[in-house]
Amino acid sequence: MAGLCAAVRARELGLETVLYEKGARVGGSMLLSSCVVWRYRDLATFREQCSGGDEELQREVIERVDDGVAWLRGLGADVVWEDTGNPLTVGLRFDPRSLTDVLTSAAGEIRLGEAAPHDAEPLLLASGGFQGDRDLVRQVVHPGGELLLRANPWSAGDGLRVAVARGAAVSSGMDEFYGRAMPAPPAAVPEERFVSLAQLYGRHALVLDERGEEFAPDPVSWSETDLVQAIAQRPNASAWYLVDEDALDVELRGRSVGEMVEAAREAGGEVLLPNELGIEVPGAYRYAVHVIAGITHTIGGVRIDRLARVLREDGTPIDGLYAAGADAGGIATGGYASGLASALVFGRRAAETAAQA
Ligand SMILES: Cc1cc2nc3c(=O)[nH]c(=O)nc-3n(C[C@H](O)[C@H](O)[C@H](O)COP(=O)(O)OP(=O)(O)OC[C@H]3O[C@@H](n4cnc5c(N)ncnc54)[C@H](O)[C@@H]3O)c2cc1C
Repeated sequence: MAGLCAAVRARELGLETVLYEKGARVGGSMLLSSCVVWRYRDLATFREQCSGGDEELQREVIERVDDGVAWLRGLGADVVWEDTGNPLTVGLRFDPRSLTDVLTSAAGEIRLGEAAPHDAEPLLLASGGFQGDRDLVRQVVHPGGELLLRANPWSAGDGLRVAVARGAAVSSGMDEFYGRAMPAPPAAVPEERFVSLAQLYGRHALVLDERGEEFAPDPVSWSETDLVQAIAQRPNASAWYLVDEDALDVELRGRSVGEMVEAAREAGGEVLLPNELGIEVPGAYRYAVHVIAGITHTIGGVRIDRLARVLREDGTPIDGLYAAGADAGGIATGGYASGLASALVFGRRAAETAAQA
């Protein structure tokens, strides 16, 4: 998302660009996403929800994302919903295929299957975070087991490594990530089902780890990012969601809890009766669903300023080096914010800063 937005904006401003895409297709995780581009309704709410994040970067998102969304609409991207349905947030949902196609057709030269050269200048790092590098995730996030990768397979920390090698500082929240609870193995979770198989009802369930211990944050946040991060720390990075009869009818984002449970079962996931668990279960529940923490993108990353310039530890910018999207960290530390929104805002910003340099 960030690289495409930057290339399109840079070309509008008269720059020549080459977009290197390491993967076999363009669109990265944006193409796999629900494609809701959103912001908190104001800066105070953003600060409250993501209290460890950089205020300057958060302000930039709040002030510039609406312009960015209007720009995407102006390029011809199809809008599916005009509203997030969440009183804390403002935004809309694009069709991910249409958004990818519109950006790709305006992005100029794209070299598919080629990793970006490290020494190009100016260079925008937009490789999508480091969730795809399992060793780095183990070292930095310290999960209690292997996380399920719920993202494109190519975002493996290349941007972070290039930035650090050139003297960049890293942001807050390096051990945090945005993700979803997903049906645990042996469930089959292909990338086209990353959205429909998400088990997004932890706050309506009793959550136990595999030893039978309760560990969920109280209360669980609206996005459940805090719960997924907590699951990641438990044995095998997994948990059981125990759901009672009444919870099955609760509707969340257009789906009932019962439908989410059925989706897990159809994917081959473990949906058991609580007495089949072999652990003590307090209370009466209808189903026990085995879930694993899925990592969508890392929240920590390269430190940038509001102009998308990569910063050193002393706060000075590194000449000609920019970062945007999930490569740029510290925006949503302590919570969750739209990754597409920050990719849009700082991708465009990087192009504008480079054009003025
Ligand atoms: C299932 C799912 C649902 C989601 N739903 C939402 C949502 O509704 N709203 C929201 O805001 N966010 C959502 N997200 C997150 C969102 O997709 C990401 O935050 C966003 O795509 C990040 O943008 P990016 O440009 O950093 O990364 P990406 O869009 O992933 O793009 C990074 C690109 O860099 C490429 N790359 C990696 N390394 C290199 C290299 N060395 N050289 C060249 N290219 C490289 C990758 O192949 C990839 O194409 C969702 C994600 C998923 C997977």
